[in-house]
Amino acid sequence: MNSNIITLALSKGRIFEETLPLLAAAGIEVAEDPEKTRKLILPTNRPDVRVVLVRASDVPTYVQHGGADIGVAGKDILIEHAASNGDNDGLFQPLDLNIAKCRMSVAVRADFDYEAAVKQGARIRVATKYTAIAREHFANKGVHVDLIKLYGSMELAPLTGLADAIVDLVSTGNTLKANHLVEVEQIMNISSRLVVNQASLKLKRDTIRALIQAFESAIPA
Ligand code: AMP
Repeated sequence: MNSNIITLALSKGRIFEETLPLLAAAGIEVAEDPEKTRKLILPTNRPDVRVVLVRASDVPTYVQHGGADIGVAGKDILIEHAASNGDNDGLFQPLDLNIAKCRMSVAVRADFDYEAAVKQGARIRVATKYTAIAREHFANKGVHVDLIKLYGSMELAPLTGLADAIVDLVSTGNTLKANHLVEVEQIMNISSRLVVNQASLKLKRDTIRALIQAFESAIPA
């Protein structure tokens, strides 16, 4: 890791867009639009700050292992990362940025009687990308589940008979509605957090502290 440059890991889309005002509060403007370039490293107006574009689920990995000094990752991603790696060691989480807000929910087909299935104590089949969160949720309810790991388009699983229910992120609810699914349980609220590599925090203390303070001053209500 270059000792003079701060590398910030972001994922494209909602997190990138909603991080821009926080960066602006720190006097940082990203020089290129990630939707219009194939570059994975984007310079900023500050010679000592650059942005790397990575998959949302790779942000904790980059920051934990020093490929980036800081990053922005959803609570969902951080929980799943800790579960699959055994820990979030070396990953300092100083701020809830209150951006990219949504909720983690259970959804089923409109004609599926979820309450009855859960009450009877029958096993239900749950398809999800978020296996750690789903496992813990159903374990706490005392419901037996067969978890089916998917990497995308979870809404298809109940429609094709692959699963009885899904656990997925819901924002407006439009995706569920368009696929005739209904939200039957909200598991947790999700927002994105600032994550910092603990060694970077020591080695680049002043710059990173200033960034944390600027971000904190601009967190949306
Ligand atoms: P919506 O139709 O607005 O409820 O959005 C639901 C779709 O967007 C689902 O496919 C979710 O997986 C995805 N989604 C919603 N919010 C987020 C978020 N904050 N981060 C990542 N994916 C999201």
